[in-house]
Amino acid sequence: MRKPRVVVLGAGYGGLITVTRLQKLIGVSEAEITLVNKNNYHYETTWLHEASAGTLHHDRARYPIREVINTSRIHFMKDTVVAIDKQAKVVTLEKGQVEYDYLVISLGSHPETFGIKGLKEYAFGITSIDSARQLREHIEYQFATYNMEKDKKVERLAIIVGGAGFTGIEFLGELGNRIPKLCKEYDIDFQKVRMICVEAAPTALPGFDPGLVNYAVKYLQKKGVEFRIGTAIKECIKDGIIVSKDNRMETIKAGTVVWAAGVRGNSVVEEAGFENIRGRVKVDDYLRAPGHEDVFVIGDCSLIINEETNRPYPPTAQIAMQQGEVCAKNLQAAISGSKKMISFTPVMKGSVASLGDHDAVGFVFGKKFVGSKASFMKKMIDNRALYMIGGPSLVMKKGKFNFL
Ligand code: FAD
Ligand code: NAD
Repeated sequence: MRKPRVVVLGAGYGGLITVTRLQKLIGVSEAEITLVNKNNYHYETTWLHEASAGTLHHDRARYPIREVINTSRIHFMKDTVVAIDKQAKVVTLEKGQVEYDYLVISLGSHPETFGIKGLKEYAFGITSIDSARQLREHIEYQFATYNMEKDKKVERLAIIVGGAGFTGIEFLGELGNRIPKLCKEYDIDFQKVRMICVEAAPTALPGFDPGLVNYAVKYLQKKGVEFRIGTAIKECIKDGIIVSKDNRMETIKAGTVVWAAGVRGNSVVEEAGFENIRGRVKVDDYLRAPGHEDVFVIGDCSLIINEETNRPYPPTAQIAMQQGEVCAKNLQAAISGSKKMISFTPVMKGSVASLGDHDAVGFVFGKKFVGSKASFMKKMIDNRALYMIGGPSLVMKKGKFNFL
């Protein structure tokens, strides 16, 4: 009899946890396992703000997938998923096709642009190694060009960050450390540079502890960040943005606009016709797409409602990794036919937002942390993710140990 074919799409946090657990849970004779990812490396999405600002080299934030999977058990395909035909059980890739009996969709997120004009054309995102390289180099290019111009355009040195959610705040934390260094390198007066954070909600980090928000905002202001709170970006133009506050429109000019104002599930999910809310599939207790018992959806492509708040859990690596563990066990149950699937409930341990390399704010296990303690914790969380996927050797190679 033919072995069941398990196909995992995406080698991010959810996908890699799933396959590294599956390779231990399922015997060679029980199933064929295929992992598809557009690159031959995994990147730490949670470190991309550092690579984007240039405070961490992008190679530190990635590692080869083959280093963490058992290639005699997992067939790895470097390819890009183009479409999923859930009736025919076929995934179309850029360079071919792959058939499945069980599918795991763990393709992460895409930026949520809310249809705002000009964002796709003119704004940078913090989404991948490629985007991080491009953003870092663009900022450097603006600094390098400034002194070469006859009519020096000071707006060229302004950087706008759209959204003061965790991504925006963490990126600004890195910029706060990077910009003074760039100023030295390119002989530019720091006073000429503007870092502007534009947030539509009435506060930065909406929903986070107000004391911690206050700490983060004050800390970043000291580093030179200007906050425009309660101000919505309405349009992105070639040399800046148009915002609206209290029904008054204003243009803010800048050489760099970064869009960090939220995410939606990968567009492949919507295009495949799964029931979804902003590209995220509201999965059943066992992480399966409704009406498709052979399709598991995890990580940023999935949606789970927090019964206490009646709102979706935010898409995080923390949840994607927990889902990967359960997804692997449920696949084992489905394939063996003799085990029971387990239901998934997220265990929220807390959140820590870094403010550059040596400061952070966090709410962990019900306790607030700021400063070097919170920063230490953030590095431990980053190292834990490495450990969970690649064990101690990956932590030794890629881990963060600069605690002072
Ligand atoms: P990802 O880890 O993003 O992986 C998706 C994978 O799919 C990638 O390898 C990608 O290359 C691949 N892929 C995408 N499309 C295709 C395609 N068409 N074909 C083939 N392969 C494809 N969460 C936390 O819990 N803690 C944090 O500290 C934290 N910090 C963050 C910092 C930043 C700057 C950002 C942007 C996010 C952060 N998050 C954090 C959120 C977290 O990164 C995501 O929730 C998490 O990465 C989701 O995991 P995933 O497995 O769904 O997707
Ligand atoms: P987010 O949705 O958490 O925050 C986006 C912010 O942009 C919001 O504050 C929103 O009000 C604002 N915004 C939306 N439209 C706007 C507009 N037109 N103009 C100005 N502001 C606008 O998105 P994110 O920060 O990208 O985070 C995505 C997910 O990743 C979240 O679940 C987050 O928790 C997670 N994440 C976690 C960490 C961490 O734990 N350290 C770090 C980064 C991201």
